[in-house]
Amino acid sequence: MKTTETDLVVIGGGPSGMLCAMRAAEGGKRVVILDGNRLLGRKLRITGKGRCNLTNDCDVREVLRNIPGDGRFLYSALTRFPPEETMALFRSLGVPLKTERGNRVFPVSDRADDVADALARRLETLGVRVLRSRATGILTDNGAVCGVEHENGLIACRAAALCTGGRSYPLTGSDGAGYEMARALGHTIVPPRPSLVPLESGDGFCAEMQGFSLKNVTLTLYDCAHTPLYSELGEMMFTHIGVTGPLVLSSSAHMRSPEQAPYTLEIDLKPGLDEKKLDARILRDFEANINRDFANSLGGLAGRAMIPVLVRRSAIPPDTKVNAITRAQRQGLVSLFKHFTVSVSGTRPVAEAIVTSGGVSVREVDPATMRSKRVPGLYFAGEILDVDAYTGGFNLQIAWATGHAAGAAIAAAKKEREHA
Ligand SMILES: Cc1cc2nc3c(=O)[nH]c(=O)nc-3n(C[C@H](O)[C@H](O)[C@H](O)COP(=O)(O)OP(=O)(O)OC[C@H]3O[C@@H](n4cnc5c(N)ncnc54)[C@H](O)[C@@H]3O)c2cc1C
Repeated sequence: MKTTETDLVVIGGGPSGMLCAMRAAEGGKRVVILDGNRLLGRKLRITGKGRCNLTNDCDVREVLRNIPGDGRFLYSALTRFPPEETMALFRSLGVPLKTERGNRVFPVSDRADDVADALARRLETLGVRVLRSRATGILTDNGAVCGVEHENGLIACRAAALCTGGRSYPLTGSDGAGYEMARALGHTIVPPRPSLVPLESGDGFCAEMQGFSLKNVTLTLYDCAHTPLYSELGEMMFTHIGVTGPLVLSSSAHMRSPEQAPYTLEIDLKPGLDEKKLDARILRDFEANINRDFANSLGGLAGRAMIPVLVRRSAIPPDTKVNAITRAQRQGLVSLFKHFTVSVSGTRPVAEAIVTSGGVSVREVDPATMRSKRVPGLYFAGEILDVDAYTGGFNLQIAWATGHAAGAAIAAAKKEREHA
């Protein structure tokens, strides 16, 4: 088995690992990144549908508002590396940026590869070594890090940073292996759960409408006590087993407590019209279709795939002539358009989630340095930690900020066992 030696081994070449490696190398440390993938930032390259929503142009308080639960752990890291630092970093690396709706920041090129390649080039310039090999374990001596074992050898080191991500999209390399390495060293792993994930429904009409998208609708998520947990205007889609799309993924991040299940989604199909205006609109459409059957009168109000479902759920017999529809039936139809419900039976598995919630308990990690409170020389950054955020570039901002904190702390550490 080949043995080498370095100051820091970064396990995982995703966004958090690359930032950590960069900062440590800038501080003069010899750094090796281990990752099984041919290219660094494999997942980063598919973010934002290949466009990479790399941060959100907002202040730290707004970032924290987009982190479910208690985001206090991240306050220090985000204050030292806020979104404006992320933007300044990428501009300095030759990646011009643009800001879109909701303050979402993207590269002007709309190419996530440009973001990953810029980081990879910087690491090369700094002399960071990248080994295409997966770590298999972290070695300790007297309880402190002394090396990292990988598929092709062993690297002696005094610091190791676990930046292996979560368990989502495992084909990108993020398969949860880091949790086991952390657990083996005595860290607590909060059970990983999917977040930003498609939802399943037992309602048969979802399958009937699979592939059908709704644009400009308002989606509201309710818990079992009918308390609204999330409401937003946007897009969603029906699938053979439930629903997906931006609104659905975002709503899933608010489903934090199984005891509040079952959850219900309510779709306002006509958010631009209040009930009175919608009623008037339906009346107008009925007048224009005066001799038609009800089932053939909704073409101006709903997509073709949805009409049979709306007709069935309205309980108005489909062959009723529109001029025979009663006021009460029409009001029922208005209500259906404004409150189209979908019952949620569960989430898709974590492998299909955009992010993994859960991970290394942040109680055992120093928030300023990302240093393990249990194992001297061990650091964490990114999604492996029990932190996650809503959509909008916040998850990558967490990866950059925690990677920066860990790398800067390692850079500042002296040669001797400073972490003790
Ligand atoms: C489809 C999709 C789109 C997304 N879009 C966005 C977006 O637009 N904006 C946003 O903010 N967030 C987005 N995210 C979330 C974001 O990509 C992640 O939060 C982020 O990549 C986490 O960074 P990380 O460095 O912690 O982990 P990862 O990016 O998961 O990287 C971890 C790395 O560790 C490596 N690794 C794992 N185990 C080992 C091992 N044993 N040895 C060596 N290496 C190992 C893996 O190969 C991987 O390269 C998206 C996620 C997905 C799946």
